Parts: sequence; structure tokens; C-alpha cells
Amino acid sequence: MNFADKIAELCIDKYKSLKKTGKPRDTEWTVLSGIVLKNEHCLKVVSLATGTKCLSSKELINTNLYDMGSRLSDSHAEVLTRRAFLRFLYDQLDQLLCLNKSQVFQFNESVIEFINGVSFHFYASHTPCGDCSIVPKFKKPASDTRDDDGHCLPKILKLEETVIEDKGIVVDGFVEDIHRTGAKCVATEKNQDLHLPGVNYHITGPLRTKPGRGDPTLSLSCSDKIAKWNFLGIQGALLSLFIPTLKFETIVIGSGCPFSMDSMERGLGKRFSDEYPLPKIYQSSLIFIHNKDDDRVNPCPSSIIWSSVRKVDTEIAVEGRKQGATTKNKKGNYLLVTRRNFLNNFFNIIEKHPKYKLLPRHPKKITYFHCKQWSKDYQKSWSNLKTIIKSWPSKPMHLQEFSL
Ligand SMILES: [Zn+2]
Repeated sequence: MNFADKIAELCIDKYKSLKKTGKPRDTEWTVLSGIVLKNEHCLKVVSLATGTKCLSSKELINTNLYDMGSRLSDSHAEVLTRRAFLRFLYDQLDQLLCLNKSQVFQFNESVIEFINGVSFHFYASHTPCGDCSIVPKFKKPASDTRDDDGHCLPKILKLEETVIEDKGIVVDGFVEDIHRTGAKCVATEKNQDLHLPGVNYHITGPLRTKPGRGDPTLSLSCSDKIAKWNFLGIQGALLSLFIPTLKFETIVIGSGCPFSMDSMERGLGKRFSDEYPLPKIYQSSLIFIHNKDDDRVNPCPSSIIWSSVRKVDTEIAVEGRKQGATTKNKKGNYLLVTRRNFLNNFFNIIEKHPKYKLLPRHPKKITYFHCKQWSKDYQKSWSNLKTIIKSWPSKPMHLQEFSL
């Protein structure tokens, strides 16, 4: 079995081992995503999530004070598995600081580093939404077309041959059409989709918001978010204060969905720069059991979020909240993968970290946004990235200006 299939199999097996709650019913489909830790001895799934939904901008604007930092706007599997992975990292840091024992971290003097030989591998059962999903559809060669010598020739289709500025799809005689995405270009992009027939329906390159019916959303597509992780690392601003930048070594996509290596490389970085750092990308031959198909036509509304941690490893989410949580029952009933809980985890590590524990602080007064600014190097790389991707929209401040 090749490495890509091994990563996919581990994630699918882990999914099968979880209880039914939160999994799709008969006519429902979902996307599965997971992160696998590789060390000198083994491969091991450390986070896993399913999900297809995200909140609309309307729902976010109506978010009340209690919801600040305690509700998820984006519940696509790829984004949730990264959040579940952050829980794993916080738990590993806590183990290092309390027990002097971790599967991934070690101290080098007072600096925390990764144990030699540790690497991380990302799996998604479906091509990420957004730019990576704009995949050429190839016309099968017609068998009755022959050249002068009687040899079979592929049928060349007459197509729109316009190349839109430098961002259009280069039309090749065999490309009949493209797979379309419901992900719309963000408003800050100066180039927008042309919606012309065939290959010129979409332009490639721009940032897009997540596809979906109903009110538009502010959440960026998974292609855009993964491209950001490829550049800045997946640890985010808060963890950057304690640990080195962490990037995926490989990205594995499942079968049974439109896929093109060119579209993946473009979507995950090359559209921004030729020198953009990219992980190794593979397609596994394995098809996820709850993939969208002729029988499974409705997206599953709930998500399973699993992390390899010591306490509460599985959560079920619906509409960005813990399943069963009501609007009346707000405080202390938020998901463990929300910004609010990460801020909690962050202060927990600060209290135990030899370098930070003596600093005077008042966690109740410091906002989430403020804490993120402490990671100077991360903020510098972020500013750098914004000079490459100028149209990156800013998150509404009211979602970040909360404290514990
Ligand atoms: Zn997505």
C-alpha cells in the first residue's frame, strides 16, 4: 500500500471506529478530514472531523455577546480537523510542561521544539472547496475519428479560446468544460467570475467564500484557508508564541470527486506565487464510505470533531454549537474547539511555561485579539502574506474582541 492510501485508510478506519452520533443518515453525505502524526515508530491519527456547513454572514452579525468566540462560523471538515488538531497540540504542550513527556514536543534548554522525525500529514476525502475544485473536464476521445493514415485521433473540440487576462484557464483542445463551484469570488477581488458558457464560467486565482445555499457567508473557501496554512503554518497566532511553525508534509485527497494535480497546486499556492511553499500532494485511490453519490444527495447537518487528547475526545456540533445546546443554555456550554476555549488553553500554558509564568497579567481584561498580537513573528509573516494576497478580507473585529 502506498503512503497516500495508508494515510487515507488510517483516517477512514478511525472514522469507522467512532459511534454513529453525528454521522450521515441514509441519504446524507459528508466530508471527512484528518491529520496523521508520523514519528520514527508509527503513523497515528491525532485529529479527525466531518462537516459540510458554515454560518451565513447574517447569522454571524446576529451573534450575541455570549456567542463571542464560542460559536463556530465554519464547519467544513478541513477547518474543524485543524481546530481539533490545535486541541491535540495544547494537550501535548500541557503534558510536556506538567509531566515532562510529550509525543511531539521536547525542551531544548528553555525553548520548545519538535522531537526529531515528527511530521504531520493531512487528509481530506474530497477536493477542497474553492479554487482547487475548478477542475477541467476532459472529453473522451471519439473512436471514429481517424487521421489520414487510419490511426485513431482524439476529437478536438472547438472551444472559446479567450484567455482572460493572465488568470483565465488556458484552453486546451481536449478540455470540454470545467467542474463548477458555488464558491463566489470575495467582494475585495477586482476580477470576478464571467459566468460564460464552458471553460470560461469561472476565472481561477481569486479568493472565494464558501459555497452554500441561502445567505452568503464570510468564511473563505478551504482552498484559501489551506493555502494560508501552507504559508504561515497551521499552528495559528496563539500557539506561535510557544512552538515553531508547523507545516503539513503531505496533503492527501480521496477518490470519487473531481481532482486535478494542477488545480490542487494552483489552489493551494501557485496562484499567488511560483515560489509559494507547497506540501507534497497525492490522491489516494480510497473512496470515503459517506462520500456524496447518487444515493447520498443531502449534506449532513452535523459534524463529528475528534482529537487525540486526555479529556473529552469527541464532540458533535450542529450550526457551530455543541449538539443539544440551546440558546438559553449558553455559558460554559461551548465547543472545545472554539476561540474561547483556545484562549483558555493559551492562558493555561502561559501559567505553566517557564518563560511566561512570572509575567504580570489579567486574563479577564486581555482580549483574544490582543493575545494574538503577542506573536510578533507570526504577525510579521501574516503582514508579508497580505502583500502577496492583497484581497484577503479582515475578520469582523467584534468576533475577536472578547475576553474570558
Ligand atoms: Zn470546504
